[in-house]
Amino acid sequence: MGRCPRRRKAGGAVTGPRSSLHPYMLVLGDGQYGCQICGRIVDELDGCKHGFRFFVAGRPLPKQSARFGKGRTWQPKAKTKYKQMLELVTREAWLKAGKPKIEQPFCVRLDFVFAWPKSTRKAKRETRAWRTERPDVDNLAKMTLDSLSLIIPEDAAISELHITKQNGPSDKEGVTITIGQCELDDTSNDT
Ligand SMILES: [Zn+2]
Repeated sequence: MGRCPRRRKAGGAVTGPRSSLHPYMLVLGDGQYGCQICGRIVDELDGCKHGFRFFVAGRPLPKQSARFGKGRTWQPKAKTKYKQMLELVTREAWLKAGKPKIEQPFCVRLDFVFAWPKSTRKAKRETRAWRTERPDVDNLAKMTLDSLSLIIPEDAAISELHITKQNGPSDKEGVTITIGQCELDDTSNDT
């Protein structure tokens, strides 16, 4: 994995419809995506200096408002550990992608998957479905965004955020994080 070395054609531009995964990726067909800025062909878990995508395995934890006890606030230990793990995996993915310096405004996509409860019948546990139980997507997002400070120093610079929450097979449990630059649609200013 390098830094935008492959270009679809000289000049770098690729054409194609916007990916529903993230606006920085264009759909090239055959499960391939291209960076809309440099034209590098990116895989689903890959990237270039304009954006990248990685998976953090493990049951996603939300950030709750800190609890109050005897004048002090505290976060349960499990959450602190989870945040440290998120930061570690983020760093590894960032190094692997060639230390991309993604510029603001940031567009972030977070796809959370939770393993079905053990009581769910086996066939259903292999499927995916929208999750409508807790934790809430906003609390999940807060925890995840807090751990991306290596790439996004200020959350205020995130101008676009997509969050999904599903139940799925236990080996898919975790969060897929996609970070790229925001791109205005040609039609965005036509008001
Ligand atoms: Zn690129």
